[in-house]
Amino acid sequence: MAAVASRFAGLCAPLKNRRRERTPGVFIHSLFPPASSSSSPYTKLASHCQFFHRFTTRMESRGSIDTNEGLVEQLKQYGAIQSSKVAEVMKTINRALFVPEGCPAYLDSPMPIGYNATISAPHMHATCLELLKEHLQPGMRALDIGSGTGYLTACFALMVGPHGHAVGVEHIPELVASSISSIKQSAAASLLKDGVLSVHVGDGRLGWPELAPYDAIHVGAAAPEIPPALLEQLKPGGRMVIPVGSYFQDLKVVDKNPDGSISIHSETSVRYVPLTSLCTQLQGY
Ligand code: SAH
Repeated sequence: MAAVASRFAGLCAPLKNRRRERTPGVFIHSLFPPASSSSSPYTKLASHCQFFHRFTTRMESRGSIDTNEGLVEQLKQYGAIQSSKVAEVMKTINRALFVPEGCPAYLDSPMPIGYNATISAPHMHATCLELLKEHLQPGMRALDIGSGTGYLTACFALMVGPHGHAVGVEHIPELVASSISSIKQSAAASLLKDGVLSVHVGDGRLGWPELAPYDAIHVGAAAPEIPPALLEQLKPGGRMVIPVGSYFQDLKVVDKNPDGSISIHSETSVRYVPLTSLCTQLQGY
């Protein structure tokens, strides 16, 4: 059974009571058009998606990608997908199930998912899967912090298989609920049913100690520094991939050596939404 446990009772005003008006948002990706100050977040999400729809309609006339398989082939050509294992899992989990309606699912771009969050671009998902693939072998344990749409958590679950564990932690309860309904429609549905895959409401900076230690930890939001709890919950021999920084961010690859020492290298420059408190993320939302 997918567990949904909240660790936030009383910390912030309930989401349903939050003000829905906001001033024009600063979006992480400048591709997004400015939103009107009087529109609701849902209207704005829809308007961003209409923008993408117009954008991709123009692209379609130039032969853009309209299938999940086509997207995977494109990512292979770019070199973002290098292994048959990552190609196979990205073919099996259809990205369209995880992208809000109206957004072009197979465009290699991040998309707004509400709550000042985005689903990462396909090439970033591919990059993280490639970096973690040796730590996502059958029977291993994976933790996905800031699991958002649940797309990568579902990919992790397929890779670790029925004898492993894939755990998503996301602090927006609505995103946890919608990720679970997307996963139920995906090729990872039976793993969710069997408890191999679970998604929880929680502060990802604290990890998910119940199922630690993990062979693989992915963090889908940028931390000012590596949270100590995540380092603790990484198994010796395990690997964490985490964007670190504020405006300028690096995707860090953190290896915990078998003797418990830590090696870190920077893979590439990136731009992720921040790993922060619920209240800070929803400020002005
Ligand atoms: N990998 C996800 C990325 C979503 S964006 C995807 O592609 O769908 C980053 C996510 O991190 C957002 O959903 C945001 O709500 C979440 N997040 C930010 N800070 C967090 C925290 N402290 N704890 C848990 N989730 C957090």
